[in-house]
Amino acid sequence: MSKRKLTPHLGWLFVVVVLVPGIVLSAIAMRSIGVEEIYIEKSIEKILFAEVSYVASRINSRLAEIEDDLSSSIDPPPLDRLKESFAQWEKTTPLVGVPFLVSPSSEILWPNYSQNLNDEEKTFLDWNRKFLSNEARIPVFENVAVAYKDDILQSTREQYLNLEPGKSLERVKGVADDYRGSSLSQESFASGSYSSADSSGSQNQVLAAQSAIQEFQSSLPIRKKVYEKAKEQGQNVLYRSVKVGQSLPSKQSESKDQESIFISELLNFSEITSRKDKGIIPRSIDGKLSFLFWKRISGGYVLGCVLSQEHFKDLILEMLPSVYSPSRILTLLDENGKPLIMPSEHSVVDWRKPIVASEISEVLPRWEVATYLSDPNMISSRARARELIMWILIVMLYASILSGGVVILRHMRSEIDLAQKKTSFVANVSHELKTPLTSIRMFTEMLKEKKDLAAEKKDQYLALMMSETERLTRLINNVLDFSRSSGAKKQYDFKVCDLVGFCRKCLEDERLRFESKGFKVVFNKSTDSLDLLFDQESLKQVLLNILENAEKYSPRIKEIELEVLKDNSSAVIQIKDRGVGINARDAKHIFKEFYRVDDSLTSSVRGTGLGLTIAKKIISDHGGDIQYQPREGGGSIFKIIIPIRRD
Ligand code: ADP
Repeated sequence: MSKRKLTPHLGWLFVVVVLVPGIVLSAIAMRSIGVEEIYIEKSIEKILFAEVSYVASRINSRLAEIEDDLSSSIDPPPLDRLKESFAQWEKTTPLVGVPFLVSPSSEILWPNYSQNLNDEEKTFLDWNRKFLSNEARIPVFENVAVAYKDDILQSTREQYLNLEPGKSLERVKGVADDYRGSSLSQESFASGSYSSADSSGSQNQVLAAQSAIQEFQSSLPIRKKVYEKAKEQGQNVLYRSVKVGQSLPSKQSESKDQESIFISELLNFSEITSRKDKGIIPRSIDGKLSFLFWKRISGGYVLGCVLSQEHFKDLILEMLPSVYSPSRILTLLDENGKPLIMPSEHSVVDWRKPIVASEISEVLPRWEVATYLSDPNMISSRARARELIMWILIVMLYASILSGGVVILRHMRSEIDLAQKKTSFVANVSHELKTPLTSIRMFTEMLKEKKDLAAEKKDQYLALMMSETERLTRLINNVLDFSRSSGAKKQYDFKVCDLVGFCRKCLEDERLRFESKGFKVVFNKSTDSLDLLFDQESLKQVLLNILENAEKYSPRIKEIELEVLKDNSSAVIQIKDRGVGINARDAKHIFKEFYRVDDSLTSSVRGTGLGLTIAKKIISDHGGDIQYQPREGGGSIFKIIIPIRRD
């Protein structure tokens, strides 16, 4: 398998196994970045909703407490001592404003025009006379989900029976279980109010109401249906004083008014008091709410009082935790959407647009527990921070995938290259061994067969055989040296010798072989003798490796020149040819093991890719170096530099 075929496979493998899953994962991550703001909004809404619902249910309990406390703060007064009894009541109970007493025949027994009325009592009568004496009806509020609980549960049952026949029974059973369940959901905050509204109802009725509230809150179609039915029945659907969530980026487009969970119905005083034995009636007078407490006493009389606004509000505000925290502002909004309490430190807040708000009770119609973000930019800045982290992670992921991939691919590629080079090395070595062997065999046969050969020819053949044998030896030495290079060190036999004479001898030994192949062989020297310390066998191996390359890679102009020079403290041997030369890109690699120039000029020539590697190793063991230079006019120059040492 060629290198070109193998590495693209690895590239594809990398793309399929690493890059594609990486891209898919980061696409998922990027999508999640897109919904990050909404996710943060949702989680903040959830936390705030829990707090708001908790506060609303606390206020409900406080309302029930107020009712109970007021009820027990006065005993039925004797009719002839109303003044004293009520005066006493007002004195002992700060919450009591103007007390009143209504007879079973709806006659206002107290306060009465026949007595000396103070200003408060006059105002009270002006506002409430007609209502208390059943001459006028006022809107009375009721939780719509409680009022229509039977319809809600019925349609829930139908919905499940129709849609999912298989699961329907289970679900209906679930609804039935909800009746029995004891835990209140977040939305069932109004439980306090409806349970007091339905105090005569059984436990089951209360739980059914809770369940109905849950279904009502969670299903838009049910909500629509119930409001329509309420309108049909002549009840008035109210709208909330706030637009919840509209300050959130994802909900800014929703501009519709939101329906209140409380609907109103016009009732007179007798109708109201006939349903329960005590209660608080909110009355809207001139756009402001005032609150009437009433309680039925023996004989069909109803006594009660106007609640002192300030005290009443204080008692309710006590139920609020701290208004300001670094993350949110929590307050109570009145029927006009105005905060009853404001934090001392707050940025500009649009009170009509809380993040989360909850209605409280039919006693406090259109009142809301509402929360706002202390820092309105919190969501977007948090989302931006998370987005940034996500991007950094994605970039890091890609950087590591790519750098890791490149390192692995490079490593594998070089491993594969090496494996392929080793394979072709084996093939090349066997071929290289065959060539001199064939020549030797050929000359041996010629010598054997042609007995009458001229002595000169015989010498020539023998010299050629000798040269081929040396070539064979050198080849085997190359292989042995290479196999030894990773293991034991090559042993050298350094001796002082004349380099000029030595180089001449080496070239002369090969001259015949080269000339028989058409080469012009030239020997040059700048000095007659040059003594230095070297290992003769090894240097011969170096010279022959380079000379043989000059022979192999010179297909057209066949010239080989060996030159010995003295350059300061170094001896220089230059072997020059007029062959194909080596381009600059390959020249950097030719001394690496197994490296062979892969172009049309050299690829047909057999070789092991070890000759120059071993030559370089030997010369560096002599403390010197081999360099390649392109030769002017074409060809190559290999320059062997050995420091002159004689000891
Ligand atoms: P090889 O057995 O292939 O000749 P070498 O290590 O001796 O191995 O040489 C490495 C490569 O350098 C050769 O494959 C060849 O491409 C190039 N090379 C070496 N000497 C010459 C030269 N004199 N002229 C052109 N190319 C050469």
